[in-house]
Amino acid sequence: MEISFAGKRALVTGAGKGIGRATALALARCGAKVTAVTRTQADLNTLVQECESITPVCVDLADWGATEAAIQDVGPIDLLVNNAACANLQPFLEVTPDEFDQSFNVNVKAVLHVSQIVARGMKARGSGGSIVNVSSQASQCALRDHAVYCSTKGALDMLTKVMALELGPHQIRVNSVNPTVVMTEMGRLGWSDPEKSKTMTSRIPLGRFAEVEDVVNSILFLLSDKSNMTNGITLPVDGGFLAC
Ligand code: NDP
Repeated sequence: MEISFAGKRALVTGAGKGIGRATALALARCGAKVTAVTRTQADLNTLVQECESITPVCVDLADWGATEAAIQDVGPIDLLVNNAACANLQPFLEVTPDEFDQSFNVNVKAVLHVSQIVARGMKARGSGGSIVNVSSQASQCALRDHAVYCSTKGALDMLTKVMALELGPHQIRVNSVNPTVVMTEMGRLGWSDPEKSKTMTSRIPLGRFAEVEDVVNSILFLLSDKSNMTNGITLPVDGGFLAC
């Protein structure tokens, strides 16, 4: 299936590494004008070296004011990928208020905030648009030491649905992808232990973790007009994990 984003303007958060970086590069290859948002300047430098047409924005999305200042003037956006997240794993009994706040600030509050800024522009222009939130299988299945992370992704799934409800009349579609483990920097933190990863892959009918490209392809589909009537879904990219 050929997907072209020629003439479209896209914004990807957490574009410095992993899934976000691959998504930004894929969107640029498909013809979109991409704004890449992340908090480590060195990652943006190498990203722009790799693809000169990408516009870099360096900001910590946990900071509401700084995010407002950084995103407000990026110009019209047609496609938004809310991908940035943190996953600091802790046993439930050891979760601290700081950890809780940091995770919710990035994984949920920043999604709401960036989407508000972008969707206000889409609504004002009457141009419609497509937003994809990067959630997780962890939104729908309890995982040990993931109390805060699972909670943020559960909240994100519900945010996706309410955004779809309220923004739909403006022809702005909002969906999420919900991957299983992907061996990015974040994936390696939680799943490098072979015993632990074997337990997880044994619960995935396809018997393996997802590749970055598996997730990127689903994101591109949901951003594109190939999914024009799809709104408010949480799309598993999990080899069947959530089906069992
Ligand atoms: P990575 O850790 O590899 O990359 C995350 C990116 O987001 C980094 O560039 C990081 O920047 C950026 N980021 C994190 N916090 C902030 C912040 N406060 N402000 C700005 N940028 C920030 O993660 P993945 O690529 O693996 O994850 C991408 C998405 O996929 C996340 O939403 C994650 O929850 C989801 N996901 C991942 C899975 C996995 O197993 N990897 C499984 C299911 C879902 P920096 O490095 O500078 O902090």
